[in-house]
Amino acid sequence: MPPGSAKIEPERIADRLSALPGLERVREAAGETPVYLVGGAVRDLLLGRERTDLDIAVEGDAAALGRRLGGEIRTHERFATATVHLDGGELDLATARSETYSRPGSLPEVRSASLADDLARRDFTVNAMAIPLAGEPELIDPHGGLADLEGETLRVLHERSFVDDPTRALRAARYAARYGFALDAQTEKLLRRADLDTVSSERVQAELRKLAREPRARRGFELLDDWGLMTLGDGARELIDSVSDVVASEPWASVVPRDDAVLAAALGRDLDPARRLASIEPAAPSEAVELARGHDGVTLALARALGAEWLDRYVSEWRDVRLDIDGDDLLAAGIPEGPAIGRGLSAAMRARLDGEAADAAEELRIALDAARDAGSE
Ligand code: ATP
Repeated sequence: MPPGSAKIEPERIADRLSALPGLERVREAAGETPVYLVGGAVRDLLLGRERTDLDIAVEGDAAALGRRLGGEIRTHERFATATVHLDGGELDLATARSETYSRPGSLPEVRSASLADDLARRDFTVNAMAIPLAGEPELIDPHGGLADLEGETLRVLHERSFVDDPTRALRAARYAARYGFALDAQTEKLLRRADLDTVSSERVQAELRKLAREPRARRGFELLDDWGLMTLGDGARELIDSVSDVVASEPWASVVPRDDAVLAAALGRDLDPARRLASIEPAAPSEAVELARGHDGVTLALARALGAEWLDRYVSEWRDVRLDIDGDDLLAAGIPEGPAIGRGLSAAMRARLDGEAADAAEELRIALDAARDAGSE
């Protein structure tokens, strides 16, 4: 669904809920324990967007419920959560909890709590709604999430939200880019003051990587730049788009993860070597291999995005070329162990790449000539 065309139909909750995989089993296994669909799963259900993972809050022991469900399960006792694969879907079960932050940006102290507390700890109103799985489906919406969903607005639940957890500012860019939502004015004021230095760089990187995975990643990074949370370098915007195109097609799709490439483009990482590669037009395949070898996939993809078309053939062909001979053949032909062997094989490889050695016999002749020249130096 393109941004700006949200069609919220609360009256269709029951229909849509019954179409989601695994929920009937959760309801049965839960018995008297109250369980709720929560968070992104409710937001996307209201928006009519499909998703593969469903978040379930449990007013009780989520791991125990997970075990009762059967299926493939991963539990994290420390966080009282369990991930269960069931009926083709992924269920994330979590014990309803409250979170308190002892200082800005610290990891929260977590206590099991009521659903109301669990919703109150969330990032934006559109993510702070729940639907009980037992009884008549109804929307539990204590923070006005439905109205904000209809108004295409991201709004924090309280003034200290970005102080407690500044990574929420990065999450805002992700949702704003994905859904085309705008920040509520007060939320924007608070967000602009978010101090990402109070959280670990690992957490910041993890959120940025999630943003890089979004189809509209460029928009998300532009928003972060607009909001003063990061600075996009010259050409970064176009590079995010062009490197996304590069890694969407073969031969690149199978060698470079899109999020790595997009993140590097946004942050200006690996740009110098990429620019160097893009400024050269190698005269022969052997020269191309010489230049490209040793650079990782992301640098190569950035260079391709900057115009190095010759890298297509490097990635799909040249870098996989192997000789029919090896060092043993040179030893057997009387070349002594030492650097001459390496020189001989390199010469044979250059010839092979450049179409000057058609078979093993020619490779060997070229390798021996080069090894003997090297030996006589
Ligand atoms: P996606 O649609 O990309 O899967 P999501 O909305 O499901 O994203 P998750 O990161 O999977 O988001 O988190 C699930 C829910 O947990 C969110 O919808 C939100 O309610 C809550 N949440 C996650 N991270 C935070 C945070 N840093 N602060 C507050 N609430 C959070």
